[in-house]
Amino acid sequence: MKLSLFGEKYSGRSGIVDLMEDMGRALLLNPDMIALGGGNPARIPALEAVFQTRLQSLSRDPGQVHALLGKYQPPQGDEALLKQLADLLGSEYGWPVTARNIALTNGGQTAFFILANMLAGRHADGVQRQIQLPLTPEYIGYTDIGLEPDFFSASRPALEILDEHVFKYRVDFEALKITSRTAALCVSRPTNPTGNVLTDDEMAHLDQLARTHAVPLIIDGAYGTPFPNIIFTPVNPLWNENIILLLSLSKLGLPGARSGFIVASEELIQAYASANTILNLACGNLGPALARYLFADGDILRLSRELIMPYYRDRALQAMDWFVTELAGLPFYIHKPEGAIFLWLWFKDLPISSQQLYERLKQQGVLVIPGHNCFPGLMQDWSHTRQCLRISYAQDAQLLRKGIRLIAWEVRRVYQQG
Ligand code: PLP
Repeated sequence: MKLSLFGEKYSGRSGIVDLMEDMGRALLLNPDMIALGGGNPARIPALEAVFQTRLQSLSRDPGQVHALLGKYQPPQGDEALLKQLADLLGSEYGWPVTARNIALTNGGQTAFFILANMLAGRHADGVQRQIQLPLTPEYIGYTDIGLEPDFFSASRPALEILDEHVFKYRVDFEALKITSRTAALCVSRPTNPTGNVLTDDEMAHLDQLARTHAVPLIIDGAYGTPFPNIIFTPVNPLWNENIILLLSLSKLGLPGARSGFIVASEELIQAYASANTILNLACGNLGPALARYLFADGDILRLSRELIMPYYRDRALQAMDWFVTELAGLPFYIHKPEGAIFLWLWFKDLPISSQQLYERLKQQGVLVIPGHNCFPGLMQDWSHTRQCLRISYAQDAQLLRKGIRLIAWEVRRVYQQG
């Protein structure tokens, strides 16, 4: 088989594909494996009941079944749904957003692929531009998304120790250099994998830098406001015509619907809708069908605030507590859990690499994400990248407890063996 450069890039080996395959194989070989590596949202029974009721009422109405299965979405997405979301953003945050500022997407991942490649890569002036990540660690799923090489650039964060076992990353504005090669700035807020939530001051600074240099600021709000609102600290959401906000229905409990939204300037939205039509023809109908119902009467806000956020906040605190007890006496830090669905553990001066620790934990029956995969665009060598793990706390509480015990047991052995 003779492959194009595109074919070679996307069928070739990449760290993430290897990791996903390895985790899949491990689960096949050992079905009792405790999977704390994945990004699935938690099962929240009261939410599942809402989805089920909606699906049942849809399926009883032939007109709605036809709308769900027998029609293509318009290029930008169902106008009534976009208007519902625009109204919600207007009434909640006072953003001057209309339906023309929003496009439906087939989920955050494809949306980011299209958007990032529309902005970065080779431009007509011959310059190869990059998506700049002001703070790493960042989302592992960005890593291989660029059609062209050298697609991301990133700087090391500043690191603040908050407590005996708690730390927080901050944007190092001294290290952040925006150049003529910068196509856009991009942050996930809350951040996957760390659970960091960039402060309002950091966001205001990034917004001002982006506007000064006339580059867009992409905010990946997969875990953010207004939904699923997995944010535990009081911060303000931000949008203006220079910001491209990505929203997703996945972490609300609907990753199977493959659905989300982009909120941006009208110009960007039109460009995105054209590109999406060429690449996908249309977006799926399931997400919009559920979203129209969830957006009505602001129900999505109530579910996010009253069910989803408290669920993950309590889980995060519980998981922190368990780790602090189990790891007592070891030189560990946990990133302050401010949002998202993960804990990020830093084992200071770990005698082995995070990849080796991943392998050893797999032998013990626990899957995690080894942290070195979560620094897309960071070119400098930094030992810290090999001392961290991401674990999801969205799983069943008993399994999580057991997984945490196993992780602590193995990490203790690693330090003892030196
Ligand atoms: N962005 C972030 C930060 C994520 O964590 C994820 C998924 O885990 C995505 C985007 C992609 O989500 P989806 O394509 O399911 O909307």
